[in-house]
Amino acid sequence: MKQQTEALHAGYEKDSQGTMAVPIYQTTAYEFRDVEHAANLFALRELGNIYTRLNNPTTDVFEKRFAALEEGEAALATSSGMAAIFYAIANAAEAGDNIVCASQLYGGTLTQAAHTLKRFGIEARFFDVHTPDAVEKLVDEKTKVIFFETLTNPSIDVADIDAIVAIADRHGIVTVVDNTVATPILCQPLKHGVDVVVHSASKYTTGQGLAIGGILVERKGLRDKLKANPRYPQFNEPDESYHGLVYLDVPLPPYTLRARLSLLRDLGAVVSPFNSWLFIQGIETLPIRMPVHSGNAQKVAEFLAGHPRVVKVNYPGLPNDPNHAMAMKYFKDGMCSGLLSFEVADFETARQVVDRTTIFSLVVNIGDSKSIITHPASTTHQQLSDEEMEACGVKPGLIRLSIGLEDADDLIADLKQALEG
Ligand SMILES: *Cc1c(COP(=O)(O)O)cnc(C)c1O
Repeated sequence: MKQQTEALHAGYEKDSQGTMAVPIYQTTAYEFRDVEHAANLFALRELGNIYTRLNNPTTDVFEKRFAALEEGEAALATSSGMAAIFYAIANAAEAGDNIVCASQLYGGTLTQAAHTLKRFGIEARFFDVHTPDAVEKLVDEKTKVIFFETLTNPSIDVADIDAIVAIADRHGIVTVVDNTVATPILCQPLKHGVDVVVHSASKYTTGQGLAIGGILVERKGLRDKLKANPRYPQFNEPDESYHGLVYLDVPLPPYTLRARLSLLRDLGAVVSPFNSWLFIQGIETLPIRMPVHSGNAQKVAEFLAGHPRVVKVNYPGLPNDPNHAMAMKYFKDGMCSGLLSFEVADFETARQVVDRTTIFSLVVNIGDSKSIITHPASTTHQQLSDEEMEACGVKPGLIRLSIGLEDADDLIADLKQALEG
C-alpha cells in the first residue's frame, strides 16, 4: 500500500459498531474472562489488553499506523519524544556501556546523552555527522547504540545514513535514528538498514501542535542482529524481572517487546489514549502536509538567501547548501521539510528580527501548521555550554524557522519587513 492509504487505514479494523473514526478507548484496565485468561495474558501465552500502561486499543492503532508509514515491524508509543529516545537507548545500554552519538542533536537529546545518561553510568561519545568515518574509532565492545538524526534540529544537517549503518553493521551495533524532522514521508531510515527509528510525535505527526508524544519503531528482521550477539545479553538471556523470559524466544518483534514489558512497565512514560487519537488524526494528513511544508520552506529559504541582511541560510533544498547532495540522496522528491535556519549579524539583530515578525509565533516547537520562529541561543540551547553550542552549530545570531502551511508569499512579506524594519 502507498503511504497516503496507510495513513488513513493501517492498523484499524472497525469494531462491532462499524465506527469510522478510531474510537478513543479511555480506560485504565480491561476485564479478564477468568483467572486462566489473566494468567495467559501475563505469561504472553495469549496476547491481549491488561492495563493501559502496557497497551491500549487506541494507542495500538497509532503504533501500527506509524509502523506502516516507516515500513517497520512494530512500534511502541511513549508519552514524549524524549521518553522514546531514552527507551530506545536504555533498551540496549546499561551502566558501564557507551553510546556513540552525532554531535548535531536536538537540545534535549544532547543533554540526555551528555548528562542524564552519564549519571546512569552510560557514556556518550560524539562524532561530527559530516564525518561518519569517525564512528569507527569511537566504538568498542561496550558500544551499544549509534545514535543520530536524519535531518538535524536545529542545525539542519543531513546524515549519510548508509555510511553510518555500514559501520554499525560491521560491529553488530544497534542504530537508533531520530526521524522527527524528515518524517517517514520524506525519509524511511529502516529501508536503509537503520534498526530503530524514534520520533517526537509532538511535531509533524500531530501537525497542529496539539499534544506531546513519542514513538519508536523497530526494523523488520532486527531479531537476527540481536540473536546470539554478545553485545546484547538482555535479549538472549532470561530476564529475572519477567519470570526468566528470554525475549528472543518470543515470536514477537523483540526490541519493542522488551521496551514495553520492561521499560514501559517499570518507568511508565505511557501516552494517553486521547493523545494517541490526536496523533492518528494528524497522520491522516501527514503525506499531504509534508510537501506543502517543504515547498513553502524552499521559497522562504530562496528569499532569505538573496537578502543582504542575512549572513547565511541553512536549508538542504538550496543547491549550494553543504547538505544538498545528502538530501537529494535520501529525501523523497527533493523535499527537505519545513525546518530552516538563518544567521543574522549578532544576538541583538536576531532579537530584533524575531520580535518584529507578526505571522510567525515565538514558540519553542516545530512542525506546527502555523509558522514558528525561535532564537535557539536564548531558549532551546541556553542550558548548553559554549562548546556544546558551537559543536551543535548554534551561533548567537541564529534564527530557526519552522515553516507552516500559510501562503508562502505572506511569510516572505513578514520576514522582509522584520529584516528591514
Ligand atoms: C522535539 C524533538 C524531540 C523531543 O520530543 P518531545 O516530544 O518534545 O519530548 C526529539 N528530537 C527532535 C528532533 C525533536 O525535534
